[in-house]
Amino acid sequence: MTPPYKRAIKLKSYATRSKKKKIEALIRRYRKQVNLFIDHCWQNENAKLDKTTFDSVEIVQNLSQRYKATAQRRALSLCSHPMTKNKPKFTGYPVLDAKFITIKSNKTSNLFDLWIGVSVLKKGHRIQLPTKKHKRLNYWLSKENATLIQGCELRPDGFIVWVDTPLEKRKETGMDIGVDIGMNKLIMTSYGESIGTDFNTLNDRILRKQKNSAAYKKILQEKKNYINQCINELPWQQLKTICYENLKNLKKGRKRNKSLRQKQQYWSYRQVIDGLKLKAQENRVRLVYINPAYTSQKCSSCGNIAASSRVLEKYCCVACGHKQDADWNAATNILHKGQEWITSLKSVKSKNQILTAIS
Ligand SMILES: [Zn+2]
Repeated sequence: MTPPYKRAIKLKSYATRSKKKKIEALIRRYRKQVNLFIDHCWQNENAKLDKTTFDSVEIVQNLSQRYKATAQRRALSLCSHPMTKNKPKFTGYPVLDAKFITIKSNKTSNLFDLWIGVSVLKKGHRIQLPTKKHKRLNYWLSKENATLIQGCELRPDGFIVWVDTPLEKRKETGMDIGVDIGMNKLIMTSYGESIGTDFNTLNDRILRKQKNSAAYKKILQEKKNYINQCINELPWQQLKTICYENLKNLKKGRKRNKSLRQKQQYWSYRQVIDGLKLKAQENRVRLVYINPAYTSQKCSSCGNIAASSRVLEKYCCVACGHKQDADWNAATNILHKGQEWITSLKSVKSKNQILTAIS
């Protein structure tokens, strides 16, 4: 049996205002409890997930022992995370399992077909929050052996729930392509199609908006939709493999004084990759990421590497005279690199098979 795969799905809460207020209060108390544990762990390096730690920290008013226990686990995992250097401040949401959450379908109501019960305070009493199944949730639930996990991440305006589905085998026939992700064209493919050619204009509009204004939030959503539309334009039915680059030129920009434009670039890149991953899973397409070294300087025809071959949007090989759109040339190189990698992997596997046969 292939191991199950957890897919996170966001659902909107349609709870009444008074119920929502109760949830908000619960989230506030939970955060406070986690931060109390963090304070304790930060002062006592040897704090463990045990009764001593549990008893040393006071309980937030109106919070149950059970909630306190999950808050303790959360705090310890935050403090012991290898990336944690400074004292963390917890501002996230409670992730709750079946001890706190029941999810039930409601077949009699057309309006809200899913109800999430959250245990708030009183034993046995759960407040019921209505929500709706949507296309994406139904899609994953329709898969064979898919199950909706009893639990969620609880947010003021909704929930993140998880569907367990067995991993499906990747496609064995179809087209391999390379993609170059950029700002002038969001996606340039190795077969010469450019997708999302007005992405830069959209980015300029974002940069002109005042940060955190309503207009800013609106345009960020517009960007997200734009990116997803572009990803959907790829010929998913026909694809077997997509090769893409690991973050290019952006690693250098990891310094503190990154410009806003660079930050936008970084996030756009991440959004494209996340979108590709999601669609690739749905379509059983293999994703291969390659090292970005020289993909924009190398000639996709003769293999010569020269920075001078690339002038802005044009690639003209100084060795063989090959002319191509610079991003298209890069996408072709990305495809070649990805295919080389797949071939080398196959040969390693076959070598191993030979070795096992001999021994
Ligand atoms: Zn050349």
